[in-house]
Amino acid sequence: MQPPLKYPSDGDVRRLLRFAPEEGAIWLGDRRMLLMHTASMAALRQDLIQSMGMAQARRVFTRMGYTSGLRDAEFAQKCRPGRDLRESFLVGPQLHMLEGAARVTPLKMAFDPDSGQYSGEFQWDDSWEAYAHRQDFGLAEEPSCWMLTGYACGYTSAFMGRLILFKEVECSACGHDHCRIVGKPIEDWPDGEAYRPYFEADSLLDQIDALSQQVEALRSTLAPAKPEGSLLGQSPAFLRAYDLLARAAATQVTVLLTGETGVGKERFARTLHELSDRRAGPFVAVNCAALPAELIEAELFGVEKGAYTGAHATRVGRFERADGGTLFLDEIGELPMPLQAKLLRALQEGEIERVGSECVRKVNVRLVAATNVELERAVHEGRFRRDLLYRLNIYPICIPPLRERVGDIELLAQALLNRFTALHGKRLRGFSERALQALQHHPWPGNVRELENLIERGVILAGQNEPIEVEHLFPFSPVPAAAGLDPHGQLTRLPDRAETDLFEHLLSSGVTLEEVEHRLLHLAVDRAEGNLSAAARLLGLTRPQLAYRLRHGGSGDRSVPSSS
Ligand SMILES: [Zn+2]
Repeated sequence: MQPPLKYPSDGDVRRLLRFAPEEGAIWLGDRRMLLMHTASMAALRQDLIQSMGMAQARRVFTRMGYTSGLRDAEFAQKCRPGRDLRESFLVGPQLHMLEGAARVTPLKMAFDPDSGQYSGEFQWDDSWEAYAHRQDFGLAEEPSCWMLTGYACGYTSAFMGRLILFKEVECSACGHDHCRIVGKPIEDWPDGEAYRPYFEADSLLDQIDALSQQVEALRSTLAPAKPEGSLLGQSPAFLRAYDLLARAAATQVTVLLTGETGVGKERFARTLHELSDRRAGPFVAVNCAALPAELIEAELFGVEKGAYTGAHATRVGRFERADGGTLFLDEIGELPMPLQAKLLRALQEGEIERVGSECVRKVNVRLVAATNVELERAVHEGRFRRDLLYRLNIYPICIPPLRERVGDIELLAQALLNRFTALHGKRLRGFSERALQALQHHPWPGNVRELENLIERGVILAGQNEPIEVEHLFPFSPVPAAAGLDPHGQLTRLPDRAETDLFEHLLSSGVTLEEVEHRLLHLAVDRAEGNLSAAARLLGLTRPQLAYRLRHGGSGDRSVPSSS
């Protein structure tokens, strides 16, 4: 006979729940939750029953419950590592209660993880779903806690690693005193197979999926060519820039790419090249800011042997190397003035001269220039030729910053994740929901390049087979203030992680409370440069309180001097 089934303290489970009203979010671990009215769930339930019929509605709600059970099972091991199996398992019923489903009383539980054997029996009191059903439909003929039962199936199946089917054998919607569920592996139920469709992909949804894929395929044959190659995006801002790029590709026009640093100008230039009829020719990229001014002319236009000291051999310049293809000049605003005249001539006449040579060479090059500075202002300041600006500015394309392409962030992040997991030989379980949300809220001053760096760091920091968490992406950013539940179910402010770390560190360092107070008081006085009133404000004390504590070596009560 088993000892009576009692719940371990639910402090660990409660700590998973975090209310972050400033973010407009509620989190259970890294899973986003929703606090909604049971009345609205009941209304949805009633609508589905009336529009789809009892059987389909039951299926939908069972699957909803199943999904949240699967999700919650992720916490079982994390919450109670190293505890016995029954205590780990009870995370599920305790979470189900915390989430407000019903009061769950375990009646029987037996399992053997090695053989996958499981049997369980639970009682529910005050199930929200039984109540909703009776309110809308009166006394039910069959047990009606579909979503709750789905949860039990999902949670237990994920916990046991095989499909465990729970059936509700009594239900208060039918007039019983309680609801009661019984679960065991689906194969052990004589009629188990009849229930399997509840937990497999919905055939109706499959059909809708297949149809929508067909529609998508048809639509793509009508729409202009979709972004390919290394350019990824579907946001309106991205598609506008891409559309301009695709139209320019069909012509020989000189293109000027503008936009903030890190938006991916070279990728746009390369894509333009690949979309153009020059794609079989070379693509040559030069960063004008990366070359010293005295070398850049030889680099671009080539040099004849003996043209200057050190020119030991004739060298072909980037213009000639790009013949028949595309030359990409990044940071064109950094090009020295004398070279700007030479570039203008190359553009206008299609002719260049190597350094130290009188011989004029014809080149057939499409120029794509890029800048992250205002060329107009550079013209005003006399650093850039107006005629060259006019020549370059025939077809400007502004590449939007990442913060204006929020809809593309997840897409880009997933693609980068694939790239870096392959590169670093990692297997990761994607991004946590909180991490994805943090990516979408970041202002991205460094744009796509910053995103690349962050994802690569995240891939390196995340543990094998774990998801990438916020802390892996933004290790130094503070977690915003949040509230959790205290043991009485009241919302209470949660200490942030840095604070908790600090106090844990202090506690294990063996330093005394008196020492901590002494150091803290003197730190405040130092920081206030000896001004006691200012130091007191830093500490949330009055000046006399601070003076008293300083005199008495840090001991004593805040308001009333201690008598001991
Ligand atoms: Zn019930």
